[in-house]
Amino acid sequence: MLSYICSICHRIYDSITLVWRCECGGLLDLRSFASHFSIKEAITRPATIWRYIDALPFWGNDKGWKSVSMGEGFTPIVPLDGTGSSIFVKLDYLMPTLSFKDRGAAVLVAKAKEIGVTKLVADSSGNAGTSIAAYANRAGIECHIYVPESTSPKKIQQIVRHGATVHTVPGSRENTAKAAQRAVNEDDVFYASHVYNPYFYQGTKTYAFEVFEQMKEEIPDVVVVPVGNGTLLLGVYYGFKELLDLGLINRMPRILAIQAEGCAPLALAFDNGLATARPVINEGTAAEGIAIANPPRSSQILAAVRETDGVIVTAPESLIDSTRDYLAKKGFYVEPTTAATFAGFFKYVESCIQGRALEKDRLFKVDPFQPGSDRKVVIPLCGAGIKAD
Ligand SMILES: [Zn+2]
Repeated sequence: MLSYICSICHRIYDSITLVWRCECGGLLDLRSFASHFSIKEAITRPATIWRYIDALPFWGNDKGWKSVSMGEGFTPIVPLDGTGSSIFVKLDYLMPTLSFKDRGAAVLVAKAKEIGVTKLVADSSGNAGTSIAAYANRAGIECHIYVPESTSPKKIQQIVRHGATVHTVPGSRENTAKAAQRAVNEDDVFYASHVYNPYFYQGTKTYAFEVFEQMKEEIPDVVVVPVGNGTLLLGVYYGFKELLDLGLINRMPRILAIQAEGCAPLALAFDNGLATARPVINEGTAAEGIAIANPPRSSQILAAVRETDGVIVTAPESLIDSTRDYLAKKGFYVEPTTAATFAGFFKYVESCIQGRALEKDRLFKVDPFQPGSDRKVVIPLCGAGIKAD
């Protein structure tokens, strides 16, 4: 039986519930369940996230997810370019709604359908909202998405066309979350939050499974991940951790997490050795997908990065746009948030090679952009560029 556990007081809740936060205020996690993972079985199934169904919390019940799935997942991993470097990109923008969020939304909405939810609420700065809206409508669930009023009109239009009701909220991203939570509490509806609902991370963990399978069951040395609320980062961590616990890999890849310079509470907490991030003021960034001033799961994110001997660094704002062009000239047209991930990666590699990064934080001794580097790197391309224009 699946259940939630409070990350603070460890109280247990039935996961067939509308409760989204513990009475003590703690965040809910999914209690570990018997997970089975077999490449031999996976390769006999269609190339979607559902080829790992035995490691997802749906055993024996095909009814819900089969009608919700749009074939999301198993996105290609290709070399960044033809120079023979050891840098690979994973094209996660090749998803039904053009962002990696479909991994989490497909699993979360399938689970909501399975437990009989008829109406849900979510809040998002954009991509998660469009993704939840698409899957909810497909599942026949009434959907209300709360977005900050600064959200790009294209994203709002996509949400509306998917059949959801959009509620625009003035002020910060945090105001939007509060408005959504008020609606959830007042109407007693399902909160399909990509931050609070632990099922979302069950979807994003398939990123790690795919990397493992596609790289011929070898894991990269470094996985680069953008981080705001940690929806991809925590999923990546859980996925590799499960592979480690099952004895399929013998070490975790090191997580190199990238924040935007203008909004970097996690990078700041990492540098200062804090267990929990302190809220910051969002000073503005083109990387709107990771501009989270007060991430609720900050302590889990910081612990995950440290456990892998990873690092959290920032992307220089001034390089985001030119990095977007750099990637476009290699053929990849991505959102500014993904460009920021690369810009942060460039800056970090430079600081390693030039010896400016602290010795303990130096993930690269040799430039991974040069042929013959022994460090394999995988970077996700999270959102399609046309969503941002
Ligand atoms: Zn609690």
